[in-house]
Amino acid sequence: MEQIKKGQRLILFPLPFQGHINPMLELANVLYFRGFSITIIHTNFNSLNPSTHPHFTFHSIPDGLSETETSTNNPLLLLSCLNAHCCDPFRNCLANLLSDDGSEEPIACLITDPLFDFTRSVAKSLKLPRMLLRTGGASSTIVYAAFPLLWEKGYLPKQESQLEEPVVELSPLKVKDLPMMNSCDPQGYYQFITEMVNEIKTSDGIIFNTSEDLEEQALTTIRQEFHIPIFPIGPFHKWFPTSYSNSLLSEDESCISWLNTKAPKSVVYVSFGSIAAINEAQFLEIAWGLANTNQPFLWVVRPGLIQGSEWLEKLPQGYLEALNEKGHTVKWAPQKKVLAHPAVGLFWTHNGWNSTLESISEGVPMVCMPNFTDQMVNARYVTDVWRVGLQLENGIERGEIEKTIRKLIAEKEGEEIKDNMSKLKEKTNLSLREGGSSYQSLNGLVNHILSL
Ligand code: UDP
Repeated sequence: MEQIKKGQRLILFPLPFQGHINPMLELANVLYFRGFSITIIHTNFNSLNPSTHPHFTFHSIPDGLSETETSTNNPLLLLSCLNAHCCDPFRNCLANLLSDDGSEEPIACLITDPLFDFTRSVAKSLKLPRMLLRTGGASSTIVYAAFPLLWEKGYLPKQESQLEEPVVELSPLKVKDLPMMNSCDPQGYYQFITEMVNEIKTSDGIIFNTSEDLEEQALTTIRQEFHIPIFPIGPFHKWFPTSYSNSLLSEDESCISWLNTKAPKSVVYVSFGSIAAINEAQFLEIAWGLANTNQPFLWVVRPGLIQGSEWLEKLPQGYLEALNEKGHTVKWAPQKKVLAHPAVGLFWTHNGWNSTLESISEGVPMVCMPNFTDQMVNARYVTDVWRVGLQLENGIERGEIEKTIRKLIAEKEGEEIKDNMSKLKEKTNLSLREGGSSYQSLNGLVNHILSL
């Protein structure tokens, strides 16, 4: 692959949440291996560990968040506090970097997240081009862009009586799949989404962690509607062989030696990402549903996953012992390694975009249990467009869990899904090879950055 000449620096500024940090640092690696020098600006909140990426330069900025703000379970509130408090420290940090006369590397552009809305005015005032990384998929992005239409047509705010109705303009979505957040008031969320879409439309280009081969139709719609350069160059983490850890929680490697003892494609890997939460009753249904399948399972029970619990204390006494090594729980897993392990046959996921894409790039069929926002769109694409998984459509109930897992592991429907998944995996990963769509798009991105 053609390398650019040394001497251009990029500044990357990730939103401080796991699902946004991972793709931003992966993108940083992709661009580093294409010859750019990388500086990462990050907040003190969910601060990054520079030693995990010694080839990057890190700058931390104060975010002024109070303890009440960092512990809120209202994500919109946390985001608006971050946007309010980070503007000045970010401007100062960026201005210092730009005025560093001693540097022999000119700064080519800023790459940040569309949810950091103040970065537009800061970059403009410092005359620095600003590109965005959209950490969600293209398919959910077109749904967000359609919010005014969805409102006008009465699909949003969602009405209980219409949840199963199709959204004819966005087939195959149903009203229940539209990306809302139960904890936020619909008007406030509408405003927030409108601003995000506006940030994208006014940027110097947008990068997606997806590929043309996976989301061609959505990317075509985005090109028609957004009128800015679009670069789908994913899956990012498959560009480089070394797996750098970006985890905010420490990864429990014990699960890899546990997986080594299991038969090929026998293990159900269960993880609901970094934010989703469940209640105690749901936790117990999951525990019994998994146990009743009689399949081995690896379950990420993140501290904070179960409302009102520290960790596993709500499990019935003797539950894990009775499973006799068939069930293994960890607080946080090295997920990409887990999904790539030959023993893993199924991923029960909340369908965050990163998890969805990581599952596709390893060819692991999914049980979908979306929680909020774009997860519902991703899950519908998994089940109804790519047909590489099944969704728990009727809530979390042990009988349904057992039936769904069995279908995927042992029945004919599961065979078709596995077959679809291995074709989708191949198609998606081929896009990174020379001449593939992501390969070409990355060349386009490098040239675009150099032309800014
Ligand atoms: N992840 C991980 N270990 C875990 C669970 C998740 O490394 O035990 C990673 C996962 O690989 C993904 C990210 O955390 O890259 C979660 O992002 P996603 O978009 O799937 O969900 P979110 O956490 O944003 O809801």
